[in-house]
Amino acid sequence: MTAIDSDVYKTLLESTKAIPWRIDWATMTFSYIGPQIETLLGWQQNSWVGVNDWVERMHPDDRDYVVEFCVSQSRAGVDHEADYRALTSTGEYVWIRDVVHVVRKDGEVEALVGFMFDISERKKTEEHLIRLQKQLEEYSFQDGLTGIANRRMFDTVLEREWATAQRSGLPLSLLILDIDYFKQYNDHYGHIKGDECLRQVAKTLSLAANRPRDFIARIGGEEFVWLLPETDAESARLVAHKCLHLIRQQQIAHEHSAVSPLVTLSLGVGTTQAAVGSDPLHFVEQVDKLLYQAKHNGRMRAEFADFRTDV
Ligand code: GH3
Ligand code: MG
Ligand code: MG
Repeated sequence: MTAIDSDVYKTLLESTKAIPWRIDWATMTFSYIGPQIETLLGWQQNSWVGVNDWVERMHPDDRDYVVEFCVSQSRAGVDHEADYRALTSTGEYVWIRDVVHVVRKDGEVEALVGFMFDISERKKTEEHLIRLQKQLEEYSFQDGLTGIANRRMFDTVLEREWATAQRSGLPLSLLILDIDYFKQYNDHYGHIKGDECLRQVAKTLSLAANRPRDFIARIGGEEFVWLLPETDAESARLVAHKCLHLIRQQQIAHEHSAVSPLVTLSLGVGTTQAAVGSDPLHFVEQVDKLLYQAKHNGRMRAEFADFRTDV
C-alpha cells in the first residue's frame, strides 16, 4: 500500500462536513480542530485552545452530564459519543454529536480524537415527531401510559351512560380513586418507577369489576374512575372494597407514605339516579368531595354516599 502523505489527510479531513479534532490528554488542550468549526459555530479555529473552551461553549443543562460522561469514559479508555447543544458565537445553540476515540500509548491515555457532527436537523425531526405524538394522544381516547381509557373517553362514556340512566331510572355508581402520597412516591423512587406503579395500579384496578358496561379510566395523574351503570350503592361498595383489597395484595412498596409501607388508595363512591334535568358533572363533583373526605379522614379508605332521593 502506498503511504498517503499528510497533506492528503488534511485535505480529506477538512473537506468533510463533520469537524475533526484532537485533544492532548496530558495538557487538556486542543492540538487540532478543523476549520469547519467556524462555519458551524462561528468560533475561530484559534479560539479553540483548552478543554474549557469546549466546556464553556455548551448548553448549561447539558454540561455537567456530558463532561462527566466524557471524562469518565476517556479515563477508562472507552470510545464513546455524546449529544449536546453547542453555543454559537451569536448566542444560539446547535445540536452536536461528538464521536470520540481514545488513543492509548503503552496502556496510558495519550489523546482523544473525534468528530463533531451537526445533528440539529435530526433533532428537529425528533422534536417534531414527539410533538405530533403528543397531539395524537390528545386526540385519542386511550391513555398512553397505562393503555386504559383516558379522561376524554370518560367524558364521552359518562354522557352516554347518564342519558341511558335518565331513561331507565336505574342507579348509576361512580368510584373516583386516587393514590395516597403519590408525590412522595415519585420524589423517592423517581418518575420511571412512578410510571411503572401507575401501570400496575391501572392493571390491578381493571380486575375489580367485570360487567360488560363497567368502565375504567385514568382521568388524571394518579386518579382513576370506575363508572358502573345499573349498579346500586351496595354493589358499588363491593367493587370499592375489591379495589382496596386488590391493591393491598399487590404489595407495592411505598416507604414514604405516612399511612402504610405499601401503596394505598383513597376512594369516593357515589350512587345516583340521574334525575331528569340533572347534570353529570355535578355528580362527579359530589363523588370528588367524597374522595376529599376520605383523604381528610386519614386516607387508605373509601367514603360512600347514596344520592338517590327514593332510597
Ligand atoms: P394525596 O395523598 O393527597 O393524594 O397526595 P398525592 O401526593 O398523591 O397528591 P398530589 O395530587 O399532590 O400529587 C400527585 C402526584 O402525582 C404529582 C406528580 O408527582 C404525580 N404524577 C402525576 N402524573 C404522573 C405521571 O404520569 N407519572 C408519574 N410518575 N407521576 C405522576
Ligand atoms: Mg394522590
Ligand atoms: Mg390526585
